[in-house]
Amino acid sequence: MTIDLHTHSNVSDGTDTPAELVRNARSAGLNTVALTDHDTFDGLDEAVAEGERIGIQVIRGMELSCGTDRESVHLLMYGGNEHDPALQSEMAKVREGRSNRLRPVLAKLAELGYPLTEESVLAQVGDSPSVGRPHIADALIAAGYVKDRTEAFDRFLADGGPAHVERYTIDLPHGIDLVNGAGGVPIIAHPWGRGREHVLPPDYLEQLVRDHDLAGFEVDHQDHDPQTRVELRALAGRLGVLATGSSDYHGTGKTDHDLGVNTTAPEVLAEIIRRIG
Ligand code: AMP
Ligand code: ZN
Ligand code: FE
Ligand code: FE
Repeated sequence: MTIDLHTHSNVSDGTDTPAELVRNARSAGLNTVALTDHDTFDGLDEAVAEGERIGIQVIRGMELSCGTDRESVHLLMYGGNEHDPALQSEMAKVREGRSNRLRPVLAKLAELGYPLTEESVLAQVGDSPSVGRPHIADALIAAGYVKDRTEAFDRFLADGGPAHVERYTIDLPHGIDLVNGAGGVPIIAHPWGRGREHVLPPDYLEQLVRDHDLAGFEVDHQDHDPQTRVELRALAGRLGVLATGSSDYHGTGKTDHDLGVNTTAPEVLAEIIRRIG
């Protein structure tokens, strides 16, 4: 069993259509793949249909933009009621915040000497309901300002970078409550990636488990080095929560995140499916 529980299609900021992603997952030797686009469920029906057609298990998921104070934290949701009104209304606010952020980012880029039109970014967004920084990165590439998404983030778009603009995110404990309230399974994505150890220290993760029924967190992720994985796995064991592993695949948009590069144990998947009901 090869299981990858965190991937993105072009319904958010990946580059494969949902059906292509599922076909690529099977070609990569996966038995199970979860599609977890940012703040939208829109790609799931297509992915599930393709999975049924070619014979690979597709788990319905989503990656919700949450945050604590001024730091963003990503929360994965597996299963649950995608039409839950409280969840849907917060997701709509997040998507609106994504769209509203575009103009101030473009103003900053213009000030820095790298003007982009809104149209050039929207051309990268396509039909996606979830405008992301990777789309702005793609417009910077198309304009010849940078060579790839990594350079765009390093020079301009990363958190705290010269063209970074905050957007609306859901307070993390509330996000966990929303996912649980909808009957989904909440798992924090890459909790200690990109310097987030100080945002989500062990005692805070413990509190989220105890007071908000956080189900677990990603351990094996490309943003975690080997030592971080050892520590997070031990912490998950101590707290008695689920430890997952996944690629965070974005198609050609993110190198080093190939499908199946990290995987989740079959017994962890079985427990997630049991809780989804
Ligand atoms: P956004 O959803 O607009 O806040 O942008 C977040 C997306 O950008 C996520 O999919 C990340 O994978 C990607 N991302 C965030 N930081 C970086 C970075 N430093 N380098 C490359 N990609 C990044
Ligand atoms: Zn993404
Ligand atoms: Fe993420
Ligand atoms: Fe992701």
